Amino acid sequence: MSENPLQAPPPVPLIDLVIQHRLMAPEIRDAVLKVFSEQKFILGEEVSLLEQEIAAYCDAREAIGCASGTDALILALMALDLTPGDEVITSPYTFFATASAIFRLGLKPVFVDIDPVSFNMDPVATEAAITPRTKAIMPVHLFGQCVEMDPIWRTATRLGIPIIEDACQAIGAEYRKRRAGVLGTMGCFSFFPTKNLGGAGDGGLITTDDPVIATRLRRLRVHGQTGMYEHAEVGLNSRLDALQAAVLRVKFRSLEQWTLARQRNARRYATMFHEYGIADALTLPTALPDRRHVFNQYCVRVPNGKRDEVLKSLKEQGIGCGVYYPLPLHLQPCFASLGYQPGSMPASELASKETLALPIYPELTEPQQDRVVKALCVAFGRPVKRTLQGVMNRPKMLSIPVRVSEPERQ
Ligand SMILES: *Cc1c(COP(=O)(O)O)cnc(C)c1O
Repeated sequence: MSENPLQAPPPVPLIDLVIQHRLMAPEIRDAVLKVFSEQKFILGEEVSLLEQEIAAYCDAREAIGCASGTDALILALMALDLTPGDEVITSPYTFFATASAIFRLGLKPVFVDIDPVSFNMDPVATEAAITPRTKAIMPVHLFGQCVEMDPIWRTATRLGIPIIEDACQAIGAEYRKRRAGVLGTMGCFSFFPTKNLGGAGDGGLITTDDPVIATRLRRLRVHGQTGMYEHAEVGLNSRLDALQAAVLRVKFRSLEQWTLARQRNARRYATMFHEYGIADALTLPTALPDRRHVFNQYCVRVPNGKRDEVLKSLKEQGIGCGVYYPLPLHLQPCFASLGYQPGSMPASELASKETLALPIYPELTEPQQDRVVKALCVAFGRPVKRTLQGVMNRPKMLSIPVRVSEPERQ
């Protein structure tokens, strides 16, 4: 970019986990050393305390830790006792694991297209996709914003179809004041390091209000074991490590604060895009008014086929950015046997060509966001300066209707 490397502004990463760790390293070290000194690495107190804390946070009766978000989805499906060939309705516009969990168990993913505003499964399309073989619905709260759950919940309840929420990107998100994880039969969470609550490796958890399902999940995660070397069914070996739980319990104390910082960063982008006069070049993410968006990702749309060009320019300017997701799942080679054709999910296919994720992590500073916005001006060939007109048209804080303060839940 610049002739003189000393003048090049420092890069802005898409996510910076080092800075977050630096702030809490001593506490993490103590928590990890405690597990080492006790030498209790499998389940145990740290895991059950984390389970209790997350259950309370989500307002769920039970939480069951497991080895990953993917395993959470697999275990949740296993707990429903489905038959190979049964259909599970889900979104094609999500991380691979949503559909792979279904497919892995011999079940059939049935994809429904997304609503282009929220990027989430369309409730009308969901209803239309129901057949006598539909045995579960798996909505994905993508990027940290909940699916429009009421119509899905009403249909599912009427037909007796269980709902498994893929809440892997949505810990702390709310739909009509209720948290992700209690909007269906079970809620699945991931502690992958880049999630809003990320561990020091893989980890996952399932929430449920149903004590029978909770007991079943606790059995399924330990080989279906009912007593010492006695197995009622064939489960998985999928436990949350005590070391992960200890790390996550330290980080969990900061989760609300991080969420508020993510929301602040989202509002700051909206203001800056207006001030620099480039709001018209992008479609900003919409936080819907009856929801609490926790911004695991901040994805704008770059229309008119310019996304890849803008992405390349941002990368050249040292701005971390990414595409979630470049190929919708109905077009993945491994799902070719499902028979979906290009053009069958137009909203998902268009989103995969237009979305661009910008840095939104909690520790992102205002000067860093300023650099991101300036780099976008360059990418669009616009003047790199705040305009008076932009400042005057600055959106009111509520134009992204994100709730800023949360009543503490017990
Ligand atoms: C991260 C993620 C998963 C999988 O979680 P892992 O812990 O990586 O296995 C599943 N679904 C969605 C939507 C995710 O974002």
